[in-house]
Amino acid sequence: MSHVLRRSLTASQPSIVGGEGAYLIDEHGKRYLDACGGAAVSSLGHDNAAVRKAICDQVNTLAFAHTGLFTNKWAEELSDYLVAHAPEGTGEGRVMYLGSGSEAMEAALKLARQYHVERGETDRAHIIARAPSYHGNTLGALAVSGHAGRRATFAPLLIETHHIDATYNYRLQHTDESEAAFGLRMANQLEAKILALGAENVCAFVAEPVVGASLGTQPAPAGYFKRIREICDTYGVLYIADEVMCGMGRTGSLFALEQEGICADITTMAKGLGAGYQPIAAVMANQKICDAIVAGSGKLWNGHTYMSHAVATAGAMAVMHEIDGRNLLEAVRARGAQLEAALHERLGQHAHVGDIRGRGLFWTAEIVENRATKAPFAVSRNIAGRVQAAAMQAGMICYPAQGCADGTAGDHILLAPCFTSTAGEIDIIVETLAAAIDTATT
Ligand code: PMP
Repeated sequence: MSHVLRRSLTASQPSIVGGEGAYLIDEHGKRYLDACGGAAVSSLGHDNAAVRKAICDQVNTLAFAHTGLFTNKWAEELSDYLVAHAPEGTGEGRVMYLGSGSEAMEAALKLARQYHVERGETDRAHIIARAPSYHGNTLGALAVSGHAGRRATFAPLLIETHHIDATYNYRLQHTDESEAAFGLRMANQLEAKILALGAENVCAFVAEPVVGASLGTQPAPAGYFKRIREICDTYGVLYIADEVMCGMGRTGSLFALEQEGICADITTMAKGLGAGYQPIAAVMANQKICDAIVAGSGKLWNGHTYMSHAVATAGAMAVMHEIDGRNLLEAVRARGAQLEAALHERLGQHAHVGDIRGRGLFWTAEIVENRATKAPFAVSRNIAGRVQAAAMQAGMICYPAQGCADGTAGDHILLAPCFTSTAGEIDIIVETLAAAIDTATT
């Protein structure tokens, strides 16, 4: 029994001992090209000297002081940086640091609710999100997530939330419908939902600017978020942008929402913020939210012991300096264009690849049994898992996502290579993926 308790839940997996650039190395010396940064985390590869040094320097200076009493220079500098680079309209925003994307979503939901309470609109409690979607594992974040499989066991514990359709172009856009008309139709679902619930009862709308885990990568149709912003403003509903996966340069701009030409009221970030060197997440509130809280109670009712940890904020600040100093947003756009072209060339006509979609260095192939009907493979065949296994065998890591695990979507394979990838590595990624899809589907 004690033996079982001592073993980690992941004990059957290979033990990882090192990293070199885009590669991970296991205990047997096997090298894996990390084509997905874990889950869009390791944007700088696995041995970035500048980030390591920043973290070590801070550990050697001081690791921890309670944020109830002290701030630290990295938390302040990082906040200035994030607010200065936030989409136009954010104004004098403020940032809070947490340990995970799920915690950031919890904080965002509480912040949205508190904003309305501070202004005396105490009936505003309903949260609207999209399905499918994924916003985190903790109970609040899971309640927001439109993911039948992940929710099922915990359903009685989840707060009531409401969902509209995610912009799943491949399956929801009509053949005779323009992208603009599709985007408008999807966005207008939000207005209908707000009116059904009574605008005076609605707190916030939550959506990823570019979807990550639940649908694979899915950029929004052009114009969708402009209409979302308009609807939110009309009815006094806040927009919470979940940039946990798509943010911090992954799509070619620091914030993915920047490319939609609007700003969010509240933004969550995580994965690429620390690039895997330290666990860190953040929630940023725009000026409107901050002003309401300052004019009201002046206090944010959310706290965790390790928030604004100096080692994590020092690491994240160094990540931002790397992105800036090495012109990595430009690299994401250039390598992203190469990845897009190579995926289309190699897999565009594949009998079992129904859709290829993404932005920047954030791409997905959706695998289907029948291209003509878009019918997915049976969930029991675990095609995404088999693609992942075949790629691992060949020395590459990719990220499988099986839609909602309910058979309504195909199997997704997500790619999120590091921003420092070479042209040769991008070619290897596409070739290895194509071979793995062949192995898994034949
Ligand atoms: N939001 C999105 C969009 C995510 O992809 C994830 C993690 N996959 C989360 C929230 C939750 O983040 P974490 O796993 O760090 O709690």
